Amino acid sequence: PQREDCPLDKNSLGNSTWSLLHTIAANFPEQPTQQQQSDIKTFISSLSRLYPCEYCAKDFRNELKESPPETKDQEQLSQWLCRMHNKVNVKIGKPVFDCSKVNERWRDGWLDGSCD
Ligand code: FAD
Repeated sequence: PQREDCPLDKNSLGNSTWSLLHTIAANFPEQPTQQQQSDIKTFISSLSRLYPCEYCAKDFRNELKESPPETKDQEQLSQWLCRMHNKVNVKIGKPVFDCSKVNERWRDGWLDGSCD
């Protein structure tokens, strides 16, 4: 793990970015307004142009063209993001995450109480 007072390397940046994205999705409304849906779409598309790992950003933009954000509600957005993250996991040889567990991981905490 890198020192916390140094510029972020690619992995720390990725980990922090996924944490923010999954936490936003975990807290996305059950009945989002048009404004909230358009805000998350703008946020993700801006991120895909500004993300400071050029080839990561380019691949992400291509994935977004194929699978645009699904923003109907909290569940849909969280599941969509889980699938996007899994595409990166597969690309770089990391384990695929079980998307049925995404709200336990990012919103509710594990059922065994280990996050309480
Ligand atoms: P991370 O992949 O950062 O995941 C953090 C935590 O999220 C995990 O510990 C796990 O608990 C949870 N998690 C894992 N998968 C899922 C999922 N599908 N849904 C919900 N939660 C999950 N790195 C590269 O080397 N090449 C790339 O092209 C690349 N592209 C990226 C594109 C984007 C948009 C982002 C945000 C990051 C990218 N990264 C890329 C970084 C990479 O995805 C990881 O963040 C980095 O390798 C660090 O991995 P990690 O082990 O800390 O876990």
